[in-house]
This record gives sequence, structure tokens and C-alpha cells, in this order.
Amino acid sequence: MSTQHTNSERLFSAAQKHIPGGVNSPVRCFYGVGGTPIFMERGEGAYLYDVDQNRYIDYVLSWGPLILGHHYPSVINAVKATIDQGLGFGTATEIEIKLADKICELMPNIEMIRMVNSGTEATMSAIRLARGFTKRDKLIKFEGCYHGHSDSLLVKAGSGALTLGVPSSPGVPADLVQHTLTATFNNLDSVEKHFETYPNDIAAIIVEPLAGNMNFVPGELNFLKGLRTLCDHYGAVLIFDEVMTGFRITAGGAQAYYDIKPDLTTLGKVIGGGLPVGAFGGRKDIMSHIAPLGPVYQAGTLSGNPVAMAAGLSTLNELTPNVYTQLNNMTERLVKGFNSLGQQYNIPFMAQHVHSMFGLFFTGETSIKTFKLFFHHMLEQGVYLAPSAFETGFTSIAHTEAIIDATLNAAENSFKKIQG
Ligand code: PLP
Repeated sequence: MSTQHTNSERLFSAAQKHIPGGVNSPVRCFYGVGGTPIFMERGEGAYLYDVDQNRYIDYVLSWGPLILGHHYPSVINAVKATIDQGLGFGTATEIEIKLADKICELMPNIEMIRMVNSGTEATMSAIRLARGFTKRDKLIKFEGCYHGHSDSLLVKAGSGALTLGVPSSPGVPADLVQHTLTATFNNLDSVEKHFETYPNDIAAIIVEPLAGNMNFVPGELNFLKGLRTLCDHYGAVLIFDEVMTGFRITAGGAQAYYDIKPDLTTLGKVIGGGLPVGAFGGRKDIMSHIAPLGPVYQAGTLSGNPVAMAAGLSTLNELTPNVYTQLNNMTERLVKGFNSLGQQYNIPFMAQHVHSMFGLFFTGETSIKTFKLFFHHMLEQGVYLAPSAFETGFTSIAHTEAIIDATLNAAENSFKKIQG
């Protein structure tokens, strides 16, 4: 395989003229690892093909949505068939009902759901709803959890904000974020203290049940159960941000995996099958406060767009129990292989997974530097990892045993190089 990136380099120069940093979302640029971002042209199954005709095994999968792999035939066909009817009408359509019914069937804690266009919109709207419902202003979020880039949530956020060293952003008014209280993930005491200080003011807790934006840190069961108990005790709304975990951690999401009932759930990524979709939903009595049923305003020109609904619905329709078993088995094979290579080559390293989400941690003082080396060695051998040490990896049903083993082979070569 050629590792020439001439065309990517040319496009990256051209992109920077009119696009800040040459990318439309900061983690796509390679600030976290150095070098030129790769411009992709095409995806097929587990593979991405770049503009220099290099092929990569993809563990980013559009940052999570592509659980079926790239260019999955039934999804592509459903999208094509829908496009043949028109791109969207700004009216109610039947396919919105089908996707809503499907999500509520798979996640029974969601009794009503509203479609939006991104995960950011989903979390932003869920918080407005929780505030409107409780008539309280304060919100608890956890350090390192990322819930999109809306103002009140961009405090001590993970993901790109961590990669770029911007824990919270200029442009976010201090007056606004004074209502956002931060606590420590997997530490219930830090949450309890906020409730003791503000027993009648906290509208909601928002949490990633398995944090995927500060590398990959699953929530501890007792911690998540404790959040439920605190919310019940103080009358706050518990929001599970399942934008990343929804339909990845089993069909019922993290809430089924942990058997905890959140009041509201935010979704994105997989429910759009690769197109821009987000959603928030939950208890009917809370959701009834959303306009037009209730006074909390939320709207969207393109919300529930039929083409996006078709991609999402056809993706969810493929997610049988066998699919989750396969995803789990393949990810386990990958993670076990990584860990045994780490031991064999004496690299301070740890990999873990829950279903098809995995994290690779290089530990020790030079962890970020080692990750950068590893990232580039893998890239050279045709394996595309997220270009940041703070991201989660994803597998799809197109990641076969042979593809996992090829990845481990590349990892072995990379570890040898790092060691040498
Ligand atoms: N919530 C979580 C847990 C996420 O991982 C993300 C994005 O990665 C978001 C919210 C924001 O979603 P979007 O990028 O679609 O706005």
C-alpha cells in the first residue's frame, strides 16, 4: 500500500483558504496527533478510501453512527428510494412515526420523542425542557463528559475541547455557565455536595453513562444508580446522554445495559445511520411540556427530514441480537489482542471495551507522545484511528475476524517500532 498523501496535502492547503483550520469540526484536523488530515473519498464496509487511493480499516466510523459499516446496501437503498420522492417537505411525514415508534419500542423508557438534527441540539433542548419542567435553573454535568457545544454544556467538556486544550470556550458568557455545576465522573460525593448546597435549584443531571469523550470510561453501576436516587430525592431530572451509546451498547442502550431508568434520553449518531439526526425523549409528563403541547419552545426547519429518517430507520431495522453478539465478540477479540501485545512488548498500555465501543489508553508520563507515534504507525499501515488520545473507538458489523487480525498485526508492528 502506498502511504503517499499528496492529494490530501493539496486539498488541506486549499481547504484552509475559506474553511477555518480546513475542517468543519475541530477533531477532524490532526492537531491532536500532528500531520495533515486525510481527505476521504469513499467508504465500503469496514474500509475508508482516501483521495490518494490508500485504504484504511476504519475505527472512527463517522464518529460512531456507522454501526453497519460504510455504504450498507439496505440503508443506501432506503435513502435512494426516499430521495426519489423528494428531499423533504417541512411537513409531517409517515416515516417520522415509524422511526419514533421503533425507538420507543427498543428503549421503553422513551414514551415520547422529538427529532432534531444533531446531538448538540438534542442535549441543549433536553436541558431547556428539564429547566422548564422543574422551573429550576441549575444543571450538573461531569468533568470530561461532552454533550455537544451549546453554551451551558461547554464547561469542562471532553472530546475536541480536551484535544485542543480548551476546557471551556471564550464566547460562553460567565453569567450563563454560573448555572452549570461540574462534578467528578464516578464520584457520587461530588454530586451530593451540589445537591446539599442547592437542594431546590438543580433542574437536571446530564451524564454520559459510558463516557466516550475522555477516552473511554464506563460509569460504575453504583454511581449511576446513585444519580437516580439523588434525582428522585431532590426532584431533579436525570438525563442520560446516549448520543454515543444509544443502539451501540445493546439495542436498549446504556440504560438497558445498566437497568436504570433515566427521565430523559438524548440520542444521535446511530439513529441517523450516517445522516444528521439527533433526538431527545423520555417520560410523557415531561415531554408534554414541549411546544406545541406545552410552553417550552423547541423547533427545527429540517427536523425529522424523511431522508435522514430513512437512513436511521433502515439502520435500526438491521440491529438484531445476533448483530450485537457479533459486534461484542469482534471488539473483544480486538481489545484482548491489543492488551496481550501491550504486555508482550512491555508498553504501558491498556485497552477496554463495552460492546462495540473501545478505548486505548497509553499510560505513563509520555502517554500522549506515545499515542501520537502509535496513531501514525497505524495510519501508515492502513488503520484509521481517531486522531486524538481522548476519543473512543468503534467497530461495525463489517469488522470481521480477518480485519481485526490485520489490525492486530499492524498494532504489533507499531509497538515494535515504538519500543525500538
Ligand atoms: N453527546 C455526546 C455523548 C457526544 O458524544 C456528542 C458528539 O460526539 C454529542 C453529544 C454532540 O453530538 P453532535 O456532534 O451530533 O452535535
